[in-house]
Amino acid sequence: MEKLKKFFINGTWVNPRSDETMAVISPSDLRQIGTVSLGNEQDVNDAVQSAKKAFTSFSKTKKKERIDLLKDLKRITERRFEDLAQAMREEMGAPISMARSAQADAAVGHLESFIGALAELKERTLLDSGDILLKEPVGICGLITPWNWPVNQIALKVIPALATGCTCILKPSEYTPLSAMVYTEIIEEAGYPAGVFNLVNGVGDTVGRAMSKHPEIDMMSFTGSTRAGIMVTKDSSETIKRVTLELGGKSPNIVFSDANLERDIKYSINECMFNTGQSCDAPTRLLVEHSCYEEVLKIAKKSAEEILIGDPTKEGDHIGPLFDKIQFDRVQNMIDLGIKEGASVLTGGLGKPHGLEKGWFVKPTIFYNVRNTMRIAREEIFGPVLVIMPFKNEQEAISIANDSPYGLAAYVQTSDIKKAERVSSQLRVGAVHINGGGYNYGTPFGGYKQSGNGREGGLMGLEDYLETKSLHGL
Ligand code: NAD
Repeated sequence: MEKLKKFFINGTWVNPRSDETMAVISPSDLRQIGTVSLGNEQDVNDAVQSAKKAFTSFSKTKKKERIDLLKDLKRITERRFEDLAQAMREEMGAPISMARSAQADAAVGHLESFIGALAELKERTLLDSGDILLKEPVGICGLITPWNWPVNQIALKVIPALATGCTCILKPSEYTPLSAMVYTEIIEEAGYPAGVFNLVNGVGDTVGRAMSKHPEIDMMSFTGSTRAGIMVTKDSSETIKRVTLELGGKSPNIVFSDANLERDIKYSINECMFNTGQSCDAPTRLLVEHSCYEEVLKIAKKSAEEILIGDPTKEGDHIGPLFDKIQFDRVQNMIDLGIKEGASVLTGGLGKPHGLEKGWFVKPTIFYNVRNTMRIAREEIFGPVLVIMPFKNEQEAISIANDSPYGLAAYVQTSDIKKAERVSSQLRVGAVHINGGGYNYGTPFGGYKQSGNGREGGLMGLEDYLETKSLHGL
């Protein structure tokens, strides 16, 4: 825990230049579990200078050397798997079974797929014209991640940077520094040359902005809210950095009456409430064909009421608390707003669940009688809150689904596969999950519209970290 007060720069744990700190609080029982240092512009600059020095030689390493390093990283990640899971259980309240099977699993899953993608990547291509295309590392990368899938987001940025020969500075969410500290220890043990990977903790307004504005950082890869993504883009514009963004969502879930309603609605509710609703691609707008609307309401209510809520230290498939008071207040305000906007509460509502008054626990909540113009249908709530709206026909479903500033994911439930594909082709989103089809490691992940740009994972995830050089006349 002493390392939480240090940053990892130039291959060693160093004392920060800044003396600012913040308490790290467990969301399930509000215990202080650590104290994290919050850096400043000088800390960022130290890390950039170390990454710059390391880039000279690391950018010239052969693919084989980088694959071998990634294999070492995988071996150590597997050994430290439980530490990653326990860190996320503690810092963000992820129930331990899910912290292992989903949150920590991402560290290994993404790594395996990036190793495969790097093996496949062509770094030199001869064109028909005789010209040669080279793929080269983009340079020094600034990586900023959120608290909701802490290790997943770190893995999706740090691994492709290291795989392509870039050097980097990671600024994880200030609320989840424990898992980032464990991840840094894993990289340290894997034996990357000093300065290839650097960690600076801190708040977005100071460390995050200093990174986006730094003239010697070549690329910013950001995951977080659309609000902060706009800031990163603006701050990066003066130095013409490459910017990739993974932002918010308000994903539609279209349910046709020919779906297997019992199975698909239960899945839909669980998927929306998974990780206590704190997933950017959660299906939070349930659009239901008119003819099965009443039946869906009944199944949805029963399914939500069957969801167990509880202590993150206990094994099981219950959901945990929200990550912090900030999020608790935001979810309560949005539920209150939904009621004031005239939507009806099908289940859940304001307040904490009985017996769980201490931590930031909330009730899985479903609204019906919702219009897509209401704020609860347009804004990302980032808690276990679902809105249900009816539609008359396929065209209306598509139109409501696309009537959102976001375009991260969509979900379709139908037994007609042709209809599923026809509808999917008209949705302005980066991924469509059909009848429960889940995400696979290595498949590109990213959004349309205000959900961001760029794709993370697999080969496309590597390409974001590469520059292209053309050679003429060889
Ligand atoms: P946030 O935007 O508040 O913070 C994310 C990160 O950005 C943190 O590290 C924070 O310190 C930093 N930050 C904040 N302001 C900044 C600024 N001006 N400049 C630079 N950095 C800044 O988001 P959050 O609350 O941590 O995470 C939740 C959000 O992340 C949700 O909107 C969610 O949808 C989104 N998210 C998106 C994806 C995706 O892949 N699309 C994945 C996970 C989370």
